[in-house]
Amino acid sequence: MQVPLLNLKAQYAPLRDEMRDAILEVMDSQLFVLGNQVKALESSVAQYSQAKYAVGCASGSDALLLALMALDVKSDDEVITTPFSFFATASAITRTGASPVFVDIDPDTYNLDASQLEDAITSRTKAILPVHIYGQCAEMDPILDIAMRHDLPVIEDAAQAIGAEDQGRRAGSMGLAGCFSFYPTKNLGGAGDGGILTTSDERFAERLRRLRTHGGLTEYEHIEIGLNSRLDELQAAVLNVKMKYLDGWSNRRASLSANYTQLLTNAKISFEVVPPVVREEGRHIFHQYVIRVPNHRDSLMLHLKECRVGTKVYYPIPLHRQPCFQYLGKKEGAFPETELAARETLALPMFPELTEEQQVYVVDSIKSFKP
Ligand SMILES: *Cc1c(COP(=O)(O)O)cnc(C)c1O
Repeated sequence: MQVPLLNLKAQYAPLRDEMRDAILEVMDSQLFVLGNQVKALESSVAQYSQAKYAVGCASGSDALLLALMALDVKSDDEVITTPFSFFATASAITRTGASPVFVDIDPDTYNLDASQLEDAITSRTKAILPVHIYGQCAEMDPILDIAMRHDLPVIEDAAQAIGAEDQGRRAGSMGLAGCFSFYPTKNLGGAGDGGILTTSDERFAERLRRLRTHGGLTEYEHIEIGLNSRLDELQAAVLNVKMKYLDGWSNRRASLSANYTQLLTNAKISFEVVPPVVREEGRHIFHQYVIRVPNHRDSLMLHLKECRVGTKVYYPIPLHRQPCFQYLGKKEGAFPETELAARETLALPMFPELTEEQQVYVVDSIKSFKP
C-alpha cells in the first residue's frame, strides 16, 4: 500500500467531463478576464461565506495585500499577526511597507493566542490579521472584542478555511474582510493561482475592485495606484464546477479526521502522539490533519516515508525566524509555542478521496515506528 499526502487526480477523475465543458465554454466565448464566470463565483463565494460581497483576485497572497492596501496600511504602520503561518501572511504586510508584529499561538489550536493580543497593540497598529490555520477558525470573539475596543479592523487570513465556522459564523464573515486562496492544493483549488476577498462593507468592496484593476474604476483613469490582480475566467469556470462539491468534500474531511483520531487513540502507540484539538464551538474543515509528536517527529517522518506514507511539516520555519525577516530582530525563543509547534507537528495524508483502509495503514505505519 502507499498513501500520498494529497491526491488531486482522484478529485479530478469524476469531474473530468464537467470540467472540460466549463473550460470549453470559456474558450468559445473568448472572454478571459472579469466576465460572467468570475461574477458567478463571486456571488456564490459571498453567499457561502455569509458575506455580502466577494472580489476575485489573482491569488490568496494578493487578497491579503489588497485588503491591507484598502486599509491604507503603509510604512511605519504595524499589523498584528501570528508567526505560525504560510509566508504570505507576513509578506503581504511588509509589501505595504508596514511591519508585522507577531503574537504567539495557542498550543492546542496553533492559532493566534488572543490572551496575548492586547499587549502587542501600539499607537502604530493599523490592523489585526488572524489566520484560520489548517481549516479551524481562530477564537474570534476575544479578537473581535479587543479590536473593537481599540477601533482596529480585523482581516481574516482564511486561505485554508473556506466554509470553516466559529459559533455559526463562517470564515470571512467575522472581520472587515476575509482573504481566500484557490491555490490547487487548497480545499477549493483552481487549475493554477487564484484568490478572493469577502466583505460585507460596500465601500470596502468597491475599493478592492478598484485596487485590483490598477486603481481605476473606469478604463484609463486612475484614482489611485493599485495592482493588476484579477481572477481569470478559466479559473473561475473550474472553481464554479468545484463549488457544488465543496460541502461534501469538507464533511468527508471531517469524518476522515474523526476516524484518524479514533484510530490513533485506540492504537496503543508506544510514544506520544497528540491528535488535533477541535474547538467544539466551531466547524473545522481540516485543510490539514496535523498531529503533534513531541519527540522523534523527524525520525517518524522518515519512517513513514519508508512505509510510502506522505507527510509534511506546515511550517518548519516560523515567520519570525525566516532569513528575510531577521531585520525584525526576533531571536530564537521569542515565540516559544510557535517554535515548539514547528518542531513537533506533522501533517498526515488528508483529502476527501482518502479511504478508511488507507487510514488504517497510515496509523499502523505510525505504530510500527520504534523510536
Ligand atoms: C495558501 C496561503 C496563502 C497564500 O495563498 P496563495 O494563493 O498561494 O497566494 C496565504 N495564507 C495562508 C495561511 C495560506 O495557506
